[in-house]
Amino acid sequence: MIAKDAAEMDQRKRIAIYGGTFDPVHSGHLTIARRVSQLFAIDEFLFVPARVAPHKLDKEVSSSLHRYAMLALATQKEPHLRVSTFELDGAERQYTVDTLFHFRSQLGQSADMFFVMGADSWLEIKIWREWQRLMTLANLIVVTRPGYEFDDTHGPETAKTTDVRGLTHESVEAKVEAGKPNIFITDAVMLDVSATAVRQAARDDRGDSLEKLVPLEVADYIRKYRLYRNTNEA
Ligand code: ATP
Repeated sequence: MIAKDAAEMDQRKRIAIYGGTFDPVHSGHLTIARRVSQLFAIDEFLFVPARVAPHKLDKEVSSSLHRYAMLALATQKEPHLRVSTFELDGAERQYTVDTLFHFRSQLGQSADMFFVMGADSWLEIKIWREWQRLMTLANLIVVTRPGYEFDDTHGPETAKTTDVRGLTHESVEAKVEAGKPNIFITDAVMLDVSATAVRQAARDDRGDSLEKLVPLEVADYIRKYRLYRNTNEA
């Protein structure tokens, strides 16, 4: 019986889902994907770019196609990093809770799901639609980000928070409980990179600064299609 349980555990897949605008994807996002995958033994790491209806926002966002293309270029050489068009395909903006429900329905109970977010998003979690239900659908991995304090009293009382800062992947793996979602806090990445900084570097066309923030393929794409040239961000 124990041997059978162990075999079943071995077969459970671990899928990470990383939502965001990705305008554009940058080295912070990619480092998070790689480190989180290693730390949590993730089999498939899915970037899920959000559909953004331009009229609903006060700031301009690049088209879904450009954002998707840059994600595809940035992840092309790493087989376990993939881009999902799930949120882009729908007619309207999806809420994260619906996206997680979709993947949960697709995967059934044979997989452990992890939703990945930065510490800045975590601070706003309580304004997300059905945020408490969201945490019943998947584990949450909150990644530290320079300039944002992590507040561990922030989660719902119903969910367990596990601080894995400073731990190795062997100890982190042991803390994942199959079928029991948890909120994990990790400091595996502490990179001061933002899409805002990338857009500013593109607008100002500052020497090689773009290449310090995004992979070469993405920097070339931004220049080729002259993205972010007219951004008015400070
Ligand atoms: P912008 O500068 O336009 O606000 P961004 O750099 O925050 O963009 P998003 O696409 O909005 O990028 O981020 C997607 C997710 O990745 C969010 O949960 C965000 O918190 C997280 N994230 C982005 N950059 C970092 C970083 N350097 N460290 C930790 N988390 C990050």
